Amino acid sequence: MWLSEIILQQTRVDQGLPYYLKFIETYPTIEELSNARENDVLRLWQGLGYYSRARNLHFTAKYVAKTLGGTFPSTYKDILNLKGVGPYTAAAIASICFDEPRPVVDGNVFRFASRYFGIDEDISKQKTRSTFEQVLSKYISRKDPGMFNQAMMEFGSTICTPSPLCSECIFNHDCIARRKGLQNQLPVKAKKTKVRERFLNYLVLHDGLNFLMRQRDSSDVWAHLFDFKMIEGKLDREIIFDKIRELLNHEFLIEEESREFQHLLSHQKIKAIFYKIKLNPQQIKSAKSVFGEPYSVEEIVNLPKPKLIVNYLEQIGIKS
Ligand code: SF4
Repeated sequence: MWLSEIILQQTRVDQGLPYYLKFIETYPTIEELSNARENDVLRLWQGLGYYSRARNLHFTAKYVAKTLGGTFPSTYKDILNLKGVGPYTAAAIASICFDEPRPVVDGNVFRFASRYFGIDEDISKQKTRSTFEQVLSKYISRKDPGMFNQAMMEFGSTICTPSPLCSECIFNHDCIARRKGLQNQLPVKAKKTKVRERFLNYLVLHDGLNFLMRQRDSSDVWAHLFDFKMIEGKLDREIIFDKIRELLNHEFLIEEESREFQHLLSHQKIKAIFYKIKLNPQQIKSAKSVFGEPYSVEEIVNLPKPKLIVNYLEQIGIKS
């Protein structure tokens, strides 16, 4: 259940299910997952996005296998201590697997409970979650808390939806939002996510056999994945070419300039252009220190890569 909850943190069930099955097949036990190489875990995760989930999953598998002797924690508090596990996931696992009466609060529960109880606190604020948890703690079934939580989430996703089916709702006599006509005002969510636009110019250097790629460091959402050297910014071609010349320290020819690729992340809208540049083997050798290591097409297929890079590679005939 831990694996499925991590996969479904930012992913729809239909999209996540094949990944869940692949993981279970490749790593049937937490022990096997803990012994995997991080690159292999990231490669299996490729395409799901939010890669910190995969890195944390792997870290936690190692922690459970090596430090906890292979036994997954069984209380809300201990589950919450695991890397990559937040209050929602901890409450879901503790209540469904271990019968601990901890209310889960996800988007569906926020919607249903805010309307039913008439709670008008801003759900984008961290402290609002505990208001909901406190209210629901009074009502959660002690006998079957897991079923209670699943019913709450299900109700929010099927009846108390953004356009709620109030006339069919079994709670419509008691619901405060219904009585006051506040269905469209609740839940209150003030913070709008700001989307940042980024322009990436990727430099795809190759000698006909190998491509220069680098593994990203730990500083962003694509940490530890492989991509090409990149120049960031909305820049004129001439400026980009000057920078490439500077990096290479010699002249070059653009073999192919890609179309503009667009990629959406939760807080970023990325526009990317790939400049494919063919160099001779000697030039590739001297470009390594700046542009990364040479990888053959067969090797690239097995490297974990952001979806944006996979999309580009597919366009140039490398199915990965
Ligand atoms: S009456 Fe309408 S708003 Fe209230 S809980 Fe039912 S579906 Fe939601």
